[in-house]
Amino acid sequence: KNRQKSALRLARLHRKIRNIRLDFLHKRTTELVRTHPVIAIEDLNVAGMLKNDRLARHIADVGWGTFRALLEAKAKLRGVRIVKAGRFEPTSKTCSSCGYVLPELPLSVRAWTCPACGTHHDRDVNAAKNLLRFALTVA
Ligand SMILES: [Zn+2]
Repeated sequence: KNRQKSALRLARLHRKIRNIRLDFLHKRTTELVRTHPVIAIEDLNVAGMLKNDRLARHIADVGWGTFRALLEAKAKLRGVRIVKAGRFEPTSKTCSSCGYVLPELPLSVRAWTCPACGTHHDRDVNAAKNLLRFALTVA
């Protein structure tokens, strides 16, 4: 009986978390398509990344696949243009200041300094700047 009760409680908790996550994804995607005429996204291989154990939990937690599906559907409805950077564009490894491309950049490295121009980059901010430039050249 007690085990049954705990199982039910756990299932309710999971459902609650799922609803909170979905609500967040809906709010963010609606806000993004309302406030931007062009949105650049990286065409990440979500299914492939889920096979990487270390990444899988984080990615599944955030719900990237759902985020992208919602974003694309809402963009289409509102006539917002979605520009995709190829999955193999070196958005993280390219210096957004001078264009220098690092030979490699392990995922664990969250910040780096460009050896060519000395600019210090946050990994994600730098990738976003490169994505923006890409979006503006094809848009
Ligand atoms: Zn540089």
